[in-house]
This record gives sequence, structure tokens and C-alpha cells, in this order.
Amino acid sequence: MRNRERMKGKRGDIRGDGGRSRSASRLPWLFGLLGLFWVAVSPTAPLVPEPRLSLSEEERLYLERLGPIRVCPDPDWEPFEALDEQGNFTGIAIDLLDLIAGRLGIEFRYVVARDWDEAVALSRAGEVLILPFLNRTAARDEWLLFTEPLLVDPSVFITREEHPFIPDATRLTDRSIVLPTGTSVEEHVRRDFPNLSILGVPTEKDVFQAVSSRRADLTLRSLTVAAYTIRKEGLFNLKIAGQAPEPYVNRLRMGVLKSEPRLRDILDRAIATITPGERDRIVNRHVNVTIVKPMDYGFILRIAGGLAALIALSFYWNLRLKNTNAALRESERSKSVLIANLPGVAYRCRHDRAWTMEFISEGCLELTGYASEDLRLNKALSYNDLIVPEDRERIWRIWEQARSQGRAAQLEYRIITADGQEKWVFERGVFVNREGDGQVLAIEGLIIDITARKRAEEELYRISTQDELTGIQNRRSIMRRLDTLIEEQAREHDDFSVALIDLDFFKKINDTHGHLAGDFILSEFAAILVANFRPYDLVGRYGGEEFMVVTPHSDGGQAERMLSRLRAIIHNHVFDFNGVALRITFSAGVASSRDLGAGVTVANLIDRADQRLYLAKEQGRDRIVGQGPAFATGGA
Ligand code: GH3
Ligand code: MG
Ligand code: MG
Repeated sequence: MRNRERMKGKRGDIRGDGGRSRSASRLPWLFGLLGLFWVAVSPTAPLVPEPRLSLSEEERLYLERLGPIRVCPDPDWEPFEALDEQGNFTGIAIDLLDLIAGRLGIEFRYVVARDWDEAVALSRAGEVLILPFLNRTAARDEWLLFTEPLLVDPSVFITREEHPFIPDATRLTDRSIVLPTGTSVEEHVRRDFPNLSILGVPTEKDVFQAVSSRRADLTLRSLTVAAYTIRKEGLFNLKIAGQAPEPYVNRLRMGVLKSEPRLRDILDRAIATITPGERDRIVNRHVNVTIVKPMDYGFILRIAGGLAALIALSFYWNLRLKNTNAALRESERSKSVLIANLPGVAYRCRHDRAWTMEFISEGCLELTGYASEDLRLNKALSYNDLIVPEDRERIWRIWEQARSQGRAAQLEYRIITADGQEKWVFERGVFVNREGDGQVLAIEGLIIDITARKRAEEELYRISTQDELTGIQNRRSIMRRLDTLIEEQAREHDDFSVALIDLDFFKKINDTHGHLAGDFILSEFAAILVANFRPYDLVGRYGGEEFMVVTPHSDGGQAERMLSRLRAIIHNHVFDFNGVALRITFSAGVASSRDLGAGVTVANLIDRADQRLYLAKEQGRDRIVGQGPAFATGGA
């Protein structure tokens, strides 16, 4: 709670300071990051004491009269301000204040508050003159005057490393964002990004953990806090994936009691003397983190597309002009530099089934495990030999289509490397035709390793379609398949059935034997379910202790018979939970597309199955209710 309140007060009200200084020159360290790299500067360089600011006699006397200035930082807001184990304040804000104290020849006297709320209370009561580092908000304007920002800290989107860069968060779909609960950032996000679903957690640390452990897809936090926490907590599967819009920028200022406008003006003059280099060093000293902007595959592929066209063009011209123009040697050299640095290979091959390589760049060894020389003119093997057999025909067809339409081909497929690994590659290439009769001379293009992206996609797909506990399909996945099945059914007049299955008195299992016993039964039940249906039936967890089975090519009767068999199996099955024998039964309701006729929809089918499940429960459980008479208990 303490933490939450601090978040609410401090990090939350990021919009209160709109319209104040937005000088970009205050952001050099940010630009470092949003360029290609943000590399830590070694934090050893000491700050050289700067010459004092010249103050008027009157100002000097005023400061003298004030004496040591009482300042109350937040005791727990790393890396900005926090109490260390020796009871001293440290952090970015404290170092900035040291700089200001030196410039003005004044002394800040730190007052230790229990938490941020107490710090605010002390300031409101006039006990301390300054709150050193906070966003300006309308509420705080009531009793504080604000200086220019000491630090401008943008907010950034944090994702796991496999996610693509986020150019525009309003365009994301099916993503969840995790935020500390009860903050006004949460309200802003709810309004600005209605496309994201929000997950609330109590603390800053929980926020990052939730993204790291896949409970949420992304978060939006201060760049500085994010960089610091990622490093401190060792959450290296996280990355900074994009910058949040302008209103989310934090402008962290000193808040001075309203009674001292003069002090605020003097502080502003000192703040204006802080150089970008000084700010850089201070931030890096406390964050000390190396962030490399992650590779954005979409971007690479777009670039690759352009490069392929360029290279093809350059090959073409070179071939035509090579023998006649010595000056081309230089361009040849720069082309080879370009090719040597590709994240894959550039090639020229014949238009034959072997894809006979006339040229393949040196990246071949890294990509395939074979030297370029092995592939050239099929010396050791052909490029086609590297392609996974199932993909070969599809690749040929894509190229044929490209040829007939006179355009570039773009494709993704798998190859097997020399050491037997399967890799995914992206290829883009063009036909080189003879002038005049248009006969194909060769194909030229680029091949790039996209295995990492594919693996990430596969993993995402698995996570998004699989139920975590039982390993069978989750509700979302089975509902999607149901949608396609309904379309097929309408086209092909083929019947199918839906069964809703609910375990009987399941709560009692949890209550008597514990939640783990319940989980165990759910998993084993799911496995039995899968084993007792046909490979093309869809079996999923509908939620809690409810399951759904969709049986294509069957009327209700067939589905009811299959379920009835399952009912007997489960009825007799003993679940062995660590030596404790447990038994369970289930009830099910079955509806078939045939029952509902032409107007069948996913919703009314499930609704019908649900009504029948309810009947099964009402009639005493451990039974199946469908179109026909109930398959009741007994016989097993
Ligand atoms: P009924 O025969 O009427 O269906 O009785 P029930 O006790 O099965 O029904 P109820 O819906 O009241 O209870 C379902 C229980 O399933 C409650 C919930 O705690 C438990 N449950 C839901 N999901 C899980 C889970 O993932 N693991 C465990 N262990 N229990 C779960
Ligand atoms: Mg239930
Ligand atoms: Mg139940």
C-alpha cells in the first residue's frame, strides 16, 4: 500500500506539467538510447566543482538568512532518491542537488520521512522547504512552486525481447499491459490505449516481473526506473520496445513552498547551469546500464527487400559492364563489403530444380554450415538439397507464379544445415531476363536467417492457444476453431456436435484434498479426454473445471455415444494423487448442428449444450444429456 500511494502521488500525475519547458537539449542521454545504442559511461569521473554562480548581495543575504535548507526526499524511490544502509540519501536527484548546492554555496539539510506520504505531509505542514524531485500537478500547485525540470525522463514501453518494436501502441491488438494499481497512469492508459487490456499489480517490481514471466505482454514505465530495475533484478528477457507519447514524459522538478518564490528563482538559475554532460554522468552513475536497441525483423526484412532489388540491379549492371569498364572495380569492392555484412547470403542461381548456384556469398557458411564453394555449381550438393523436402514444391510454385506475373518472389521456408539443424529463412529474389527475348538468365536475391523470429512466433502461438495447466487447447483457441467449423459446415452440409463437460462436485475435491489435488485431477482428466476422442476432434478447457469437445462429421447421437463411453471410463477411474485414491464423475450437455438447423451459430449451439448440461446436473449428475434420452448413471 505504501508503495502504491507513492506511485500514485509521484509517478502517476504525469500530465500536470503540460506546457512547461520541453527543451530537447535536456535530453542528450535519451537521444543516445533512441539512436542505436545507449552505452553506460564509466561512472568513475568525479564531478569537478564548478565556479559559483554570481549572486547579488541581496540574494546572498537572503540565502544566508534561510540557513540550511530543509529538503525531504522520498526514502524509497530508486534510482532517483533513496536511503542507503548507512542512512544517507543517494540517487540521481541527490547528486543533482549536490551540484546545485555547490553552485549556490548553500547547504541542503535532509529530513528523513518514513515514506513518500509523510514527505508530502511534512511539506504541506511547512516543516520542509523543498520536495526535491517530483512531477508538477494541479493539486501540488496549491502549495508548491515548481522549478524548471532537473531531469526529463520519458516513459517507455517494455516488452519481452521476442516482441517487435512498438511504433504505435494504439495499433496493438490482443495485448495486455501491466501497471501498478490505483495510479493515474492507469487511468490515462485506459483512455489513451483502449485496445490494451490492463492488469494491475501492487508494486513497481511486480510490474516488471509480470512482463518477464509472461503474465502480461508489456508495461509503460519511466525509462530510468525501467533501465535500473531490469538490470537490478536481472530481467534480461525484457527490452525497451518503444517510447510512449509526449504526455507520458516525466518532468521532474523541485517543489518549493509557495512562501519562497525567491528561492525558486535562485534554484532555477542554478538548474540552468547544469550541463547535459553532467546530467549524463549522474544518470549513468546510478543506472549504469547498457541497452542495445533490439533487432527489428520487420525492419530488416523491409531493408532486405530494398537491398535485394539493389543488389540484383548491381549484379546486372556489373555483368554487362564488367569487361569494358575498369572503373567498376571500386564499385565491385563496395558491393562485396555490402554483401559480406549481410545477415545472410546474396546469390545468383539458375532457374532449375536444383537451384544451381552460380554465386553465393560467404555468409553461406554461417547460414548453412557449407562453404560457398561446396554449393557453387552443385559441387558438393545443390541448394535444393538443403531445403526441407516438404517445402520444395511450394517454393517452386511461388517462383513460377512470380515469373508468370513478372514480379519479385518473397518466401519463407526451412533448410537443414550441415549439422542437421533446421533453420527458417526468408528469401527475396528476382528473375534476370535477357533483353529482347526475355529468356530467364538467372535468379538473384537474398536469403536471411529468421529462425529466432519464427521460434518466438511459434512460442507465442503455443502460449496463446494452449491451456497452461492441462496442455490442451484453451478456450480462445477452441472457440476460434469452432468459428471455422461453422463456416465449413454451412458450405459442406456436414454436421458436427459440441459437448460441454463439467466435473461434478469438484469444489469438494479442492476443499477436502487441496487445490493441488484439484489441479492434478484436471490434468489427468484432460489427458483421458484427449485419449478417448478421435484425432480430428477438438478437445479444450473451457474454463475452471469445464471442458469442451467438438466432434466434426458427427450428429448428436455419435457424440453422445462417445461421451457415454467416456462417462463409464471416468466413473471407474481412480486418480492416484500421491498415493491418495480420488474419484470423480462428470456431467455433460451435447448439442449438434443438426438439432439447430440452418440458423446455427456458435452462440446458440453452446447455449443449447449449456442448457442440457444444466439438466444433467439437475437430474442427478454423472450423466450425458443430448437430443435423445439421457444416458444416465449405471451400467458401469
Ligand atoms: P457442480 O457439480 O455443481 O459442478 O459442483 P462444483 O463444485 O463442481 O461446481 P462449482 O462451480 O461450485 O465449483 C467449481 C470449482 O472448481 C470451484 C473452483 O475453485 C474449482 N476450480 C476452478 N478452476 C480450478 C483450477 O484450475 N484448479 C483447481 N484446483 N480448482 C479449480
Ligand atoms: Mg463449473
Ligand atoms: Mg462442477
